[in-house]
Amino acid sequence: MAENDTHNIEGRRRFLKAAAGSVAAATVLGTLPRRAQAQDLPHLSPSDPTASALKYVEDGSKAQGKKTASDACFNCNFYQGKAGAAWGPCQLFPGKAVAAKGWCVSHAVMI
Ligand code: SF4
Repeated sequence: MAENDTHNIEGRRRFLKAAAGSVAAATVLGTLPRRAQAQDLPHLSPSDPTASALKYVEDGSKAQGKKTASDACFNCNFYQGKAGAAWGPCQLFPGKAVAAKGWCVSHAVMI
């Protein structure tokens, strides 16, 4: 076998190994669950024990004890929802979405 043939065979082996690795990686990545998006989060129930303890309500206009009438989740320092979204994550309730117009006693004014 000529030296040139040996190089070609080695080159083909390397190519096939790399191609097999790429297919395997693509298969694994394709089957991974996509990261949870804010819109996929379940809504926090006001009857959740922690939410209830913090007097969380979905309609902040009906809340008692607000410091200012305009206090709502969307202008709270713990809120992580996008501007204009009806629901978004709150740092105090991981894995749940709170109503942008909601409120709880832990409301913190954004600085
Ligand atoms: Fe809403 Fe803020 Fe209470 Fe979270 S901490 S529920 S964003 S008021």
